[in-house]
Amino acid sequence: MRMVLMGPPGAGKGTQAVSISRHYGVPHISTGDMFRAAMASGREVGARARAYIEQGKLVPDDVTMGIVRERLAEPDASRGFVFDGFPRTIPQAMELDSILSESGQRLDAVVLIDVPEEELVTRAAGRRVCAACNSVWHMKYNSPPAGVCSCGAELTVRPDDRPETVRARLAVYRSQTEPLREYYGASGVLRVVDGLATPAEVEKRILMVLEECGR
Ligand code: AMP
Repeated sequence: MRMVLMGPPGAGKGTQAVSISRHYGVPHISTGDMFRAAMASGREVGARARAYIEQGKLVPDDVTMGIVRERLAEPDASRGFVFDGFPRTIPQAMELDSILSESGQRLDAVVLIDVPEEELVTRAAGRRVCAACNSVWHMKYNSPPAGVCSCGAELTVRPDDRPETVRARLAVYRSQTEPLREYYGASGVLRVVDGLATPAEVEKRILMVLEECGR
């Protein structure tokens, strides 16, 4: 299975990518997680990405493609992958196509999780993450027992979930990532799933469209 999960920030890509990658036994590759790990471990690529991430802007394509090429060269990615949050621009999508075609591969599916913008703002405003174990909670939809993570650690607001950053990220999504809908639509791999439902229901919908693609 070689697939891309796309959708605006807050559509639930991360949550779905975890279960879809488990279902197919392929790695979940999140460029956002890779950038955050690189920043935390002090890698140079993290330092190059930080300013963009904190302002809700996209990290430049050459930096992003560098970490993606590195990740795809790891042995587990030869079995397939679920990309989450990548590609986010037309040049990234074109470069991914050419990397795959170099080894005779292509994407099996691109699934777009569609969620209206008002709902995305509500979701981001309530999201809390655990700095210790990375669990994600929501003050409205999945509230943490006693206000702290189940592992006992304090919950924090991810800097890119702040309202001004969320608005910036949505604008970036509209102008730079939404054109991918047409790009992948034209090649016939795009499937759109309504993301306005519980995570379990959205997962069912995704698995159904993937089965329809013959996977
Ligand atoms: P995410 O966790 O996927 O929402 O990503 C967090 C941030 O990392 C984004 O707002 C971007 O600044 C950066 N980022 C992640 N993936 C990409 C990508 N494919 N291209 C450019 N920037 C990215």
